[in-house]
Amino acid sequence: MIGRMAARKRPVQRRSVPAAASPHRQAQTGLWRSIFIVTTLAIGLLAVYGLSNPGKALPSPQPATTATPGVTPRSGHIGIIAGHWGNDSGTVCDDGLTEVSVNLDIAQRVESGLKQLGYQVDLLQEFDSRLTGYRAEALLSIHADSCQYVNDEATGFKVASAANRSTSDRDRQLVDCLTRRYAQRTGLPFHAGSITYDMTDYHGFYEISADTPAAIIETGFLYLDRAFLTRDADKAAQGIVDGLECFLEQQTP
Ligand SMILES: [Zn+2]
Repeated sequence: MIGRMAARKRPVQRRSVPAAASPHRQAQTGLWRSIFIVTTLAIGLLAVYGLSNPGKALPSPQPATTATPGVTPRSGHIGIIAGHWGNDSGTVCDDGLTEVSVNLDIAQRVESGLKQLGYQVDLLQEFDSRLTGYRAEALLSIHADSCQYVNDEATGFKVASAANRSTSDRDRQLVDCLTRRYAQRTGLPFHAGSITYDMTDYHGFYEISADTPAAIIETGFLYLDRAFLTRDADKAAQGIVDGLECFLEQQTP
């Protein structure tokens, strides 16, 4: 069909050129003729391509692939909660920096890091409606600690799982992988002393499906670790990606 239309175009154009055209008109005509020849050739080539590739007239766009070349694509489905996102600001620093902005920044970097490895990721809000009965290979909620001065030891991160769930063995493996890999990547100390009831009794643990392993991480204290969390967010995110990969690929932490 495209080919027949193109074939009819040329004679029509020829007839429309007057015999005694002015030099200006001739130049214009020459330009139009060139445009028609190029267009006709292009359409003709497309038609030939279409005939020799029935059912495939144009190259179909390649599906977007997120896996990094040279990396064996991973499979698995992970939920990442950006702490407080969609609900409240979390802890707020004196100059207005909010925990939720730091959490979301890290969570988005984690999402992109995991997708680059080939994992499927759901980036979730704090009280995301998808959390009810949520099923995945792992769920992690990302938070950061207080932006108020506590004492000079209030630095470092911590990871916890639910106090009591049927998946407690898998939860512990997840916590173990995250703890070791995050420490390795970031160099931050593990601040065990401040794991609170709020962490082990985190609402998300009890909304999701009973067979989804889950943990919560406090990536650092916004007061003493602020420079790291804001300027080195990529490293924090990479520590989390390392920990999740360790768990999903059942590596020894
Ligand atoms: Zn928080």
